[in-house]
Amino acid sequence: MKRAVSAPWARRAVRQGCFYAAATTSSSSPEAASEKWDGRFRLHKPRGQHLLTNPRVLDAIARRAAIGPGDAVLEVGPGTGNLTARLLASPASRVAAVEIDPRMVEAVTARAAALGLADKLTVIAGDAVEVDFPQFDVCVANIPYGISSPLIAKLLFGAYRFRTATLLLQKEFARRLAAAPGDGEYNRLAANVRLVADVRLLMDVSKRDFVPMPRVDSSLVEIRPRAVAPGVELGEWLAFTRACFGQKNKTLGAIFKQKRMVTELFRRSQRAEERDGGAGGVSLGALDDGSDEDGCGKDDDDGNSAAGCSGEEVAAFKERIAGALESAELAGKRPSKLSNDELLRLLRLFNERGVRFR
Ligand code: SAH
Repeated sequence: MKRAVSAPWARRAVRQGCFYAAATTSSSSPEAASEKWDGRFRLHKPRGQHLLTNPRVLDAIARRAAIGPGDAVLEVGPGTGNLTARLLASPASRVAAVEIDPRMVEAVTARAAALGLADKLTVIAGDAVEVDFPQFDVCVANIPYGISSPLIAKLLFGAYRFRTATLLLQKEFARRLAAAPGDGEYNRLAANVRLVADVRLLMDVSKRDFVPMPRVDSSLVEIRPRAVAPGVELGEWLAFTRACFGQKNKTLGAIFKQKRMVTELFRRSQRAEERDGGAGGVSLGALDDGSDEDGCGKDDDDGNSAAGCSGEEVAAFKERIAGALESAELAGKRPSKLSNDELLRLLRLFNERGVRFR
């Protein structure tokens, strides 16, 4: 399974279980209840530790999250608790916050105690990409941007059922997430997310509103999972979009004509046939790795046929691929211009002809 990306320091910290759990520190000084950063320890930029310190922006995020009475809230990366304090003051019944840095675990726990709201908060010490989340209705977070993609994959393609995720993300990432087919930024991430959710840009936030100031601006987005299931096997879809968007500016005809792509799909389709009936797990790795790392999609016209099969078999398989593209009338189109309905139709035509992606 392709897994995300937390820094080695974080993994080590989790493994060592070096977390403080209880509100034992007496740092319930006025500073502890304020969004200003008092410099009590060093903030690590590579760990995504950019605290949001503009009270108006913090208020706006909590308001835009539209937390209702009785909601269970999930926060990822609470830091010193600037946003957490607002979530605790909301009509939510409880807040669970997942934090990887023991110093932050201690700080946010102390903050809740200082506010007299410790009972409403559960701090989960660990890596948000790895730990199981408790049940929640809304997720509200200024997350470390390095885990944006795996976290969104986990939220949307994991077993969680929730109403909305209101997330502060790097501005460019947010634009890509909310892009529509044909937009310059449209990519695999947007196609995958669109399969199961609607995304709205809510507001931009300046990098000046953070301490320390990051290099990038941010945007708040709302991700709202759709009630209706997409009607496609998820692993197959994710592998299909990886193949398509690896070279999103080529035409589908060109992408699926490449020898390397054909032989790789031939191998996979054979494996899928043998496997049929078996469940097979779904990898929830990054959603936007539009690279060729799985070996598909390289311009390679002198590669050999798939191992253990004849050239004729592969040639016949290539014909099936071409047939699907022809019948969809999509050979001349680029993946980044297609709606998910068109992509789904093409995937079905491939699958009907025994062309499988996983
Ligand atoms: N939400 C706070 C802090 C944002 S900084 C605010 O708005 O002020 C990001 C926070 O995420 C830091 O506290 C950092 O320690 C934490 N973090 C980084 N990687 C994480 C991970 N993989 N899982 C959980 N928390 C993480």
